[in-house]
Amino acid sequence: MDLTDSQIERYSRQILLQELGGEGQERILAARVLVAGEGLALPIAARYLAAAGAGEIGLASGAGGDVLAADIHALNPEIRVTLHSAESPSQELVSGYDLLVAVSLGSSLRDHLNRGAVATGCPVITGACDGDHGFVAVLDPARGGGCLACVEWPSLGTAVKPLTPALAGAVGTLLATEALKAITGIGDPLTRRMLRIDARSSAYTTAVVQHRPSCLICRVT
Ligand SMILES: [Zn+2]
Repeated sequence: MDLTDSQIERYSRQILLQELGGEGQERILAARVLVAGEGLALPIAARYLAAAGAGEIGLASGAGGDVLAADIHALNPEIRVTLHSAESPSQELVSGYDLLVAVSLGSSLRDHLNRGAVATGCPVITGACDGDHGFVAVLDPARGGGCLACVEWPSLGTAVKPLTPALAGAVGTLLATEALKAITGIGDPLTRRMLRIDARSSAYTTAVVQHRPSCLICRVT
């Protein structure tokens, strides 16, 4: 893929990043990312991915998905945006994408998307806010280390509102950052680790995510 003049102009600031360059930008433009879930971090992650030039963004975000799709199109008309129903069969929902960004998932949607990601071998960037804590994790169950069902989420899915919408903003931008790292292969990804942000103390800690032996979804057969 050769970058057009308008693409070079639009993405010039990140193309100038030494590690990224034109080759990295081409990888981003070729990327297909499904952004699914709910909450304040979701549109932020989707918008930053669109601004970076992620070529195809699928949205499975329930109410407001059409508004977000229009926002993305206005932000970057080059991006292809596809709206999905979160209730679509799990493999159908995830297949066709290189990466799943799963945000603030309640237990039923988490299970649904997880089954699709494991079945299709799709890596997962996931995150949420819970009160004054934010969480971001990168999972790649097809290559070991556990799936969304293996993660010990503190109390995710209980619809606890973040301490401040700004915390959701931090989670959303970190989700987009990890997605872009996964797409371009740049940096040290958070793979098989969970980053925990304590907004009150400003402590950032990471913990390893491991395959849970009793997990029936990503078990090794
Ligand atoms: Zn698992």
